[in-house]
Amino acid sequence: MTHSIESLQKQFHQFRMSETSKALPNFLRKAEKHSWTYQEFLHEILTYEEKRREEKMIEKHLKWAKFPYQKSLDMFEMDGQPSLSSRQMNQLKELSWMEQSYNLILLGPPGVGKTHLAIGLGLETIYRGYRVSFISMGELISQLKTEEYIRKSQLQMKRIRQADLVIIDDIMYMAMDQQEGNLFFHLINHLYERSSVILTSNKGPEEWGELLGDQGIATAILDRLLHRSEVVHLNGDSYRMKNRKSVFQSETVQT
Ligand code: ADP
Ligand code: MG
Repeated sequence: MTHSIESLQKQFHQFRMSETSKALPNFLRKAEKHSWTYQEFLHEILTYEEKRREEKMIEKHLKWAKFPYQKSLDMFEMDGQPSLSSRQMNQLKELSWMEQSYNLILLGPPGVGKTHLAIGLGLETIYRGYRVSFISMGELISQLKTEEYIRKSQLQMKRIRQADLVIIDDIMYMAMDQQEGNLFFHLINHLYERSSVILTSNKGPEEWGELLGDQGIATAILDRLLHRSEVVHLNGDSYRMKNRKSVFQSETVQT
Protein backbone atom coordinates (compact mmCIF):
# COMPACT_ATOMS: atom_id res chain seq x y z
CA MET A 1 0.00 0.00 0.00
CA THR A 2 1.45 3.39 -0.92
CA HIS A 3 0.70 6.61 0.87
CA SER A 4 1.04 10.00 -0.69
CA ILE A 5 3.57 12.32 0.94
CA GLU A 6 0.76 14.81 1.46
CA SER A 7 -1.30 12.38 3.48
CA LEU A 8 1.71 11.46 5.63
CA GLN A 9 2.37 15.16 6.19
CA LYS A 10 -1.24 15.58 7.26
CA GLN A 11 -0.88 12.75 9.76
CA PHE A 12 2.28 14.23 11.24
CA HIS A 13 0.42 17.50 11.54
CA GLN A 14 -2.47 15.82 13.32
CA PHE A 15 -0.01 14.40 15.84
CA ARG A 16 1.29 17.93 16.40
CA MET A 17 4.60 17.30 14.69
CA SER A 18 4.17 20.24 12.39
CA GLU A 19 7.88 20.83 11.87
CA THR A 20 8.42 17.26 10.69
CA SER A 21 5.31 17.55 8.58
CA LYS A 22 6.77 20.56 6.73
CA ALA A 23 10.22 19.04 6.31
CA LEU A 24 9.07 15.53 5.41
CA PRO A 25 9.63 15.68 1.61
CA ASN A 26 13.16 16.90 2.25
CA PHE A 27 13.87 14.12 4.75
CA LEU A 28 12.51 11.46 2.39
CA ARG A 29 14.79 12.69 -0.41
CA LYS A 30 17.80 12.68 1.93
CA ALA A 31 16.95 9.20 3.20
CA GLU A 32 16.92 7.83 -0.34
CA LYS A 33 20.06 9.65 -1.33
CA HIS A 34 22.07 8.47 1.69
CA SER A 35 20.35 5.09 2.01
CA TRP A 36 19.37 5.72 5.63
CA THR A 37 18.20 2.73 7.65
CA TYR A 38 14.73 2.93 9.22
CA GLN A 39 16.38 3.66 12.54
CA GLU A 40 18.49 6.45 11.09
CA PHE A 41 15.45 7.95 9.44
CA LEU A 42 13.44 7.96 12.66
CA HIS A 43 16.37 9.38 14.59
CA GLU A 44 16.80 12.20 12.04
CA ILE A 45 13.20 13.33 12.05
CA LEU A 46 12.77 13.09 15.81
CA THR A 47 15.97 15.07 16.44
CA TYR A 48 14.84 17.68 13.95
CA GLU A 49 11.41 18.00 15.56
CA GLU A 50 13.00 18.40 18.99
CA LYS A 51 15.50 21.03 17.81
CA ARG A 52 12.84 23.07 16.01
CA ARG A 53 10.56 22.97 19.06
CA GLU A 54 13.36 24.31 21.23
CA GLU A 55 14.11 27.08 18.73
CA LYS A 56 10.47 28.03 18.55
CA MET A 57 10.17 28.06 22.33
CA ILE A 58 13.17 30.41 22.57
CA GLU A 59 11.69 32.69 19.90
CA LYS A 60 8.41 32.78 21.84
CA HIS A 61 10.14 33.47 25.15
CA LEU A 62 12.21 36.25 23.56
CA LYS A 63 9.02 37.86 22.32
CA TRP A 64 7.31 37.52 25.70
CA ALA A 65 10.31 38.95 27.56
CA LYS A 66 9.76 42.39 26.00
CA PHE A 67 13.40 43.44 26.23
CA PRO A 68 13.82 47.09 25.16
CA TYR A 69 16.85 45.89 23.15
CA GLN A 70 18.90 42.72 22.94
CA LYS A 71 22.50 43.02 24.08
CA SER A 72 24.34 39.91 25.17
CA LEU A 73 26.82 39.42 27.99
CA ASP A 74 29.49 38.89 25.32
CA MET A 75 28.92 42.47 24.27
CA PHE A 76 29.53 43.65 27.83
CA GLU A 77 33.13 44.82 27.99
CA MET A 78 34.73 43.86 31.26
CA ASP A 79 37.39 46.59 30.94
CA GLY A 80 34.55 49.09 30.80
CA GLN A 81 33.30 47.95 34.21
CA PRO A 82 36.21 47.46 36.65
CA SER A 83 33.92 46.93 39.64
CA LEU A 84 32.80 43.55 38.28
CA SER A 85 35.47 40.82 38.15
CA SER A 86 35.50 38.13 35.46
CA ARG A 87 34.98 35.57 38.19
CA GLN A 88 31.83 37.35 39.40
CA MET A 89 30.62 37.68 35.84
CA ASN A 90 31.09 33.94 35.24
CA GLN A 91 29.22 33.14 38.42
CA LEU A 92 26.33 35.34 37.34
CA LYS A 93 26.38 33.75 33.89
CA GLU A 94 26.14 30.24 35.36
CA LEU A 95 22.68 31.23 36.66
CA SER A 96 22.82 29.12 39.81
CA TRP A 97 21.59 32.22 41.71
CA MET A 98 18.54 32.19 39.49
CA GLU A 99 17.94 28.48 39.80
CA GLN A 100 18.01 28.89 43.59
CA SER A 101 15.48 31.76 43.40
CA TYR A 102 17.95 34.40 44.55
CA ASN A 103 17.31 38.00 43.60
CA LEU A 104 19.95 40.17 42.02
CA ILE A 105 20.19 43.86 42.77
CA LEU A 106 22.26 45.90 40.32
CA LEU A 107 23.14 49.30 41.72
CA GLY A 108 25.04 52.22 40.29
CA PRO A 109 24.74 55.65 38.71
CA PRO A 110 23.24 56.13 35.24
CA GLY A 111 25.09 54.73 32.23
CA VAL A 112 27.26 52.13 33.97
CA GLY A 113 25.61 49.15 32.28
CA LYS A 114 22.93 48.01 34.74
CA THR A 115 20.23 47.54 32.11
CA HIS A 116 22.67 45.95 29.64
CA LEU A 117 23.81 43.44 32.27
CA ALA A 118 20.21 42.66 33.27
CA ILE A 119 19.22 42.06 29.63
CA GLY A 120 22.34 39.94 29.00
CA LEU A 121 21.47 37.74 31.98
CA GLY A 122 17.86 37.63 30.82
CA LEU A 123 18.97 36.36 27.41
CA GLU A 124 21.14 33.63 29.00
CA THR A 125 18.15 32.59 31.11
CA ILE A 126 15.95 32.27 28.02
CA TYR A 127 18.60 30.20 26.19
CA ARG A 128 18.46 27.78 29.14
CA GLY A 129 14.75 27.32 28.49
CA TYR A 130 13.31 29.60 31.18
CA ARG A 131 10.74 32.36 30.89
CA VAL A 132 11.77 35.96 31.50
CA SER A 133 9.85 39.24 31.73
CA PHE A 134 11.47 42.66 31.50
CA ILE A 135 9.60 45.77 32.61
CA SER A 136 10.53 49.23 33.80
CA MET A 137 9.23 50.25 37.19
CA GLY A 138 7.13 53.06 35.70
CA GLU A 139 5.49 50.69 33.25
CA LEU A 140 4.97 48.05 35.93
CA ILE A 141 3.05 50.42 38.16
CA SER A 142 0.88 51.50 35.26
CA GLN A 143 0.19 47.86 34.25
CA LEU A 144 -0.69 46.94 37.82
CA LYS A 145 -3.12 49.84 38.04
CA THR A 146 -4.85 49.05 34.77
CA GLU A 147 -4.88 45.25 34.74
CA GLU A 148 -8.44 45.05 35.99
CA TYR A 149 -9.87 46.67 32.92
CA ILE A 150 -7.20 46.61 30.18
CA ARG A 151 -6.72 43.22 28.59
CA LYS A 152 -3.19 43.97 27.40
CA SER A 153 -2.09 44.82 30.95
CA GLN A 154 -3.78 41.68 32.19
CA LEU A 155 -1.86 39.54 29.71
CA GLN A 156 1.48 41.15 30.49
CA MET A 157 0.94 40.83 34.24
CA LYS A 158 0.05 37.16 33.77
CA ARG A 159 3.36 36.61 31.95
CA ILE A 160 5.25 38.48 34.66
CA ARG A 161 3.64 36.36 37.39
CA GLN A 162 4.48 33.16 35.52
CA ALA A 163 8.06 34.11 34.61
CA ASP A 164 11.04 32.33 36.14
CA LEU A 165 12.96 35.61 36.11
CA VAL A 166 11.43 39.08 36.32
CA ILE A 167 13.62 42.10 35.57
CA ILE A 168 12.35 45.36 37.04
CA ASP A 169 14.39 48.20 35.60
CA ASP A 170 14.95 51.52 37.34
CA ILE A 171 13.15 50.61 40.52
CA MET A 172 12.38 53.43 42.95
CA TYR A 173 13.11 56.25 40.63
CA MET A 174 9.98 57.92 41.92
CA ALA A 175 7.92 57.91 45.09
CA MET A 176 4.84 55.68 45.21
CA ASP A 177 1.53 56.42 46.84
CA GLN A 178 -0.09 53.94 49.20
CA GLN A 179 -2.21 52.23 46.53
CA GLU A 180 0.83 51.76 44.28
CA GLY A 181 2.90 50.47 47.18
CA ASN A 182 0.15 47.97 47.97
CA LEU A 183 -0.08 46.69 44.40
CA PHE A 184 3.70 46.38 44.22
CA PHE A 185 3.76 44.50 47.52
CA HIS A 186 1.23 41.94 46.27
CA LEU A 187 3.32 41.32 43.17
CA ILE A 188 6.58 40.94 45.11
CA ASN A 189 4.81 38.64 47.55
CA HIS A 190 3.60 36.49 44.66
CA LEU A 191 7.08 36.30 43.12
CA TYR A 192 8.80 35.68 46.44
CA GLU A 193 10.52 32.27 46.47
CA ARG A 194 8.69 31.30 43.28
CA SER A 195 10.91 33.18 40.84
CA SER A 196 13.98 35.37 40.74
CA VAL A 197 13.93 39.13 40.38
CA ILE A 198 16.64 41.38 38.98
CA LEU A 199 16.28 44.96 40.14
CA THR A 200 18.28 47.84 38.79
CA SER A 201 18.46 51.14 40.62
CA ASN A 202 20.58 54.20 41.00
CA LYS A 203 19.56 54.40 44.65
CA GLY A 204 20.63 51.98 47.38
CA PRO A 205 18.04 49.86 49.26
CA GLU A 206 18.50 52.11 52.31
CA GLU A 207 16.80 54.88 50.30
CA TRP A 208 14.00 52.70 48.90
CA GLY A 209 11.97 52.68 52.11
CA GLU A 210 10.97 56.29 51.99
CA LEU A 211 9.82 55.97 48.36
CA LEU A 212 7.49 53.06 49.03
CA GLY A 213 4.61 55.01 50.49
CA ASP A 214 3.56 53.38 53.73
CA GLN A 215 6.25 52.34 56.24
CA GLY A 216 4.65 48.96 56.98
CA ILE A 217 4.42 48.10 53.29
CA ALA A 218 7.96 49.33 52.71
CA THR A 219 9.31 46.97 55.38
CA ALA A 220 7.33 44.03 53.99
CA ILE A 221 8.52 44.66 50.42
CA LEU A 222 12.16 45.15 51.39
CA ASP A 223 12.05 42.03 53.57
CA ARG A 224 11.05 39.88 50.64
CA LEU A 225 13.27 41.53 48.05
CA LEU A 226 16.40 41.46 50.16
CA HIS A 227 15.91 38.15 51.96
CA ARG A 228 17.74 36.04 49.41
CA SER A 229 19.61 38.53 47.30
CA GLU A 230 22.99 39.30 45.85
CA VAL A 231 23.93 42.96 45.46
CA VAL A 232 26.25 44.03 42.63
CA HIS A 233 27.62 47.55 42.75
CA LEU A 234 28.55 48.91 39.36
CA ASN A 235 30.41 52.15 39.24
CA GLY A 236 32.85 54.04 37.17
CA ASP A 237 32.12 56.55 34.46
CA SER A 238 28.99 56.48 32.40
CA TYR A 239 29.53 54.30 29.36
CA ARG A 240 27.04 56.48 27.53
CA MET A 241 29.13 59.60 28.10
CA LYS A 242 32.41 57.89 27.20
CA ASN A 243 31.01 56.58 23.95
CA ARG A 244 28.93 59.61 23.21
CA LYS A 245 28.67 60.52 19.59
CA SER A 246 28.91 64.18 18.90
CA VAL A 247 27.14 65.83 16.02
CA PHE A 248 30.26 67.95 15.64
CA GLN A 249 32.62 64.98 15.29
CA SER A 250 32.41 64.77 11.53
CA GLU A 251 32.95 68.47 11.04
CA THR A 252 36.38 69.55 9.97
CA VAL A 253 37.54 72.68 11.59
CA GLN A 254 38.34 75.33 9.05
CA THR A 255 40.78 77.99 9.99
P1 ADP B 1 22.34 51.98 33.01
O1 ADP B 1 21.20 51.06 32.92
O2 ADP B 1 23.28 51.66 34.13
O3 ADP B 1 21.94 53.44 33.04
P2 ADP B 1 22.92 50.97 30.37
O4 ADP B 1 22.96 49.51 30.66
O5 ADP B 1 21.68 51.49 29.72
O6 ADP B 1 23.22 51.81 31.69
O7 ADP B 1 24.18 51.35 29.51
C1 ADP B 1 24.21 52.51 28.69
C2 ADP B 1 24.78 52.14 27.33
O8 ADP B 1 26.16 51.81 27.46
C3 ADP B 1 24.12 50.91 26.71
O9 ADP B 1 24.08 51.08 25.32
C4 ADP B 1 25.06 49.77 27.08
O10 ADP B 1 25.00 48.73 26.13
C5 ADP B 1 26.42 50.46 27.10
N1 ADP B 1 27.32 49.88 28.09
C6 ADP B 1 27.37 50.16 29.41
N2 ADP B 1 28.34 49.48 30.02
C7 ADP B 1 28.92 48.72 29.07
C8 ADP B 1 30.01 47.76 29.05
N3 ADP B 1 30.71 47.47 30.17
N4 ADP B 1 30.33 47.19 27.86
C9 ADP B 1 29.64 47.50 26.74
N5 ADP B 1 28.61 48.37 26.69
C10 ADP B 1 28.26 48.98 27.82
MG1 MG C 1 19.17 51.53 32.79
